[in-house]
Amino acid sequence: MSAPDPRALTRELLAYNTINPPGMERACAQKLGALLESAGFRVAYHEFADERTSLIATIGGADKPPICFTGHIDTVPLGAARWSRDAFAGETDGDRLYGRGATDMKSGIAATVAAALDLAPHLRRGPGVTLVLTAGEEIGCEGARYLADQRLLDRAGAIVVAEPTANYPYIGHKGLAWFEIETLGVTAHGSMPELGENAIVKMAKVIGALDGFHFPIEAHPVMGEPTLNVGTIRGGLNTNSVPDEACITVDTRTVPGIDHGHLEKSLAALLAPHAASVRKIVDCASLYTDPGDAWIAEVFEVCAPFVGGRPEPRTITFSTDGADLKRGFGGAVPAVILGPGEPKLAHQTDEWCSMNRIEESVDIFRELMKRWCRA
Ligand SMILES: [Zn+2]
Repeated sequence: MSAPDPRALTRELLAYNTINPPGMERACAQKLGALLESAGFRVAYHEFADERTSLIATIGGADKPPICFTGHIDTVPLGAARWSRDAFAGETDGDRLYGRGATDMKSGIAATVAAALDLAPHLRRGPGVTLVLTAGEEIGCEGARYLADQRLLDRAGAIVVAEPTANYPYIGHKGLAWFEIETLGVTAHGSMPELGENAIVKMAKVIGALDGFHFPIEAHPVMGEPTLNVGTIRGGLNTNSVPDEACITVDTRTVPGIDHGHLEKSLAALLAPHAASVRKIVDCASLYTDPGDAWIAEVFEVCAPFVGGRPEPRTITFSTDGADLKRGFGGAVPAVILGPGEPKLAHQTDEWCSMNRIEESVDIFRELMKRWCRA
């Protein structure tokens, strides 16, 4: 069979509404699975909930482990602002292809699949390629986590996460741990506050303590410092009552070496004098590969002509499925984040992707597959 045009395939994928929530990735996953199966890939579907379908497609598998390419099928919602384009019709304007997921990241999946289908006849005998196309990435990497936790991932020797990077190869990203912090008080009539215990006043002290929090770690040579941000605050029911509950959510972005369970304990210890409870609500590990890794050097070499010179070691700001997949593949696997979408257009109104970049991604991915498999 001939490989599909990656631009046409992106448009076909955009037509599936996979907005998360609710996601409902099954139909789109089956479409991709059928394409891959007809080219000789072994395809397995895994659902972490009804219609929340990830797929693993593998070809080859002799001697060293295959190279893994991954992407997520779900997208974020359209947002409150009105779109000037149809978000599902694959409208084009010059080089731009519009739609929810055009950048993040149906173009990345299409480029991966197009490269794999094109090379399929040459991949059967060597180490081969495994594609992991996940559901539920946008809310806590649910699909990838399920694959790792259930030990459904076999093996891989390197991972390409085809998230939007405008084809610049990034060697990692920070981890992300979100916490919900609560203070409790005793309610009373607002005219007699001395009879109550004010949960908002307690929370003010909590926020003051967090403001002075220092992560017990040196700055990372590429990622820089870990960060902490108080993102939301809620408390009190009406002006004339003493509030008996207040709640904040806190977003931390971590660097390798920070254990999120340990971080939760540190925050709990810091806030214990204010009787605040700390609960971790979202947890995605950091991802990092040493820029001295031999395969990373090869990726840089392949990407150089497409990004105007040899890439420098950089990390990207958003987090990805890569960390969970790396864990699922046993840990010691180099990974790179590299895909055709425009990072600044992810999650935006009137999201679009350059069709030229999609073609360039196919060239890059095909070259990486060839080199890995000597095909
Ligand atoms: Zn994404």
